[in-house]
Amino acid sequence: MKRRILTLLFLLFIVFTGGMLLLRENSRKSANIETVEVTRFLMGTSWTVKIPLGGEVNRENALRATDSVFIELDRIEDLMSEWRPETAVSAINSNAGLKPVKVPLELFKLIERSVEFGHLSQGAFDITWKGMGPLWTFGQNFRVPGEDEILEAVKRVDFSKIVMGQDSVFLPERDMAIGLGGIAKGYAIDRAGEVLRESGITDFLVDGGGDILAWGRIGGRQWLVGVRDPRGNRDELIKKLSISGGAVVTSGDYERFKMVDGRRYHHIIDPRTGHPADKCRSVTVFSPKAETADVLATAVFVLGPEEGMKLISQYEETEALIVESNGEILMSGGFDELITG
Ligand code: ADP
Ligand code: MG
Repeated sequence: MKRRILTLLFLLFIVFTGGMLLLRENSRKSANIETVEVTRFLMGTSWTVKIPLGGEVNRENALRATDSVFIELDRIEDLMSEWRPETAVSAINSNAGLKPVKVPLELFKLIERSVEFGHLSQGAFDITWKGMGPLWTFGQNFRVPGEDEILEAVKRVDFSKIVMGQDSVFLPERDMAIGLGGIAKGYAIDRAGEVLRESGITDFLVDGGGDILAWGRIGGRQWLVGVRDPRGNRDELIKKLSISGGAVVTSGDYERFKMVDGRRYHHIIDPRTGHPADKCRSVTVFSPKAETADVLATAVFVLGPEEGMKLISQYEETEALIVESNGEILMSGGFDELITG
């Protein structure tokens, strides 16, 4: 009996949450193209999935596919957030200096790839940046840390100290911590794309807080993706790109920052100095995979134009646009081909 009530409650829950999604759903006709567009807030940012209707894709299966995407994104956040105490990542952090923590294979692999990206970027990409965490969280009571505090805290930042076991992760020093903010969103965007394709959707756009994965077409055309002016308003673009099979991800010093005495303090940390990286205003990377684009955007931002472009050239089908700290725009050789209009 009790079991039946539980089943009933569960079903009601499904119906209810399904309804919530529907409320946020928005079916609209823009330029005579009917699309399904669903937006939700997750991982501290706004996510939108957009699917053009037509052919085999009707409203119903487009909506079902977007539901599956958001279930998947919820699952990833529950596993990888460093801000929620109950996640596997938080377990690794709270056991730093104490003991290895067994983690699900998916997370283990992601951390393994993060360590590899650490090597490939010569330490510019470093998930142990989080060891500096308390100094560079941009909450209400942000204050500029002293140089001595920074030098002390940056000692805790070194991805090469992470001990990868058979299926466990160990941070050997008590104050070490990892944060996946520079890679998890890209990974999640890729997973969203896979879920959509598994649901039979081949034309779609996934927008995770301005980071985009676009496949196929809309109304017979490639998807239009804007690159923002890092010192302009949200809708001021410096370039428009045409995309039909890949990700466009931007790291910028305008996304999370505080201005103190005319200086900008922001959320991309140079692991070598412990200070916010200062060679760029923004870095936009195109790559077939959102995870690669996400990591490279952060790494290039830290490395700066010269070293950064060298890193980009090592990746196939990967291009970058850098807005340097003096406002100048620099593009890799093939970036031009993405620009439209
Ligand atoms: P966004 O979160 O706006 O997409 P980025 O992709 O540029 O920004 O990632 C910045 C985030 O990555 C920071 O908020 C922090 O969580 C993390 N981070 C900061 N510095 C580094 C670094 N040097 N290497 C890896 N991750 C970093
Ligand atoms: Mg990013």
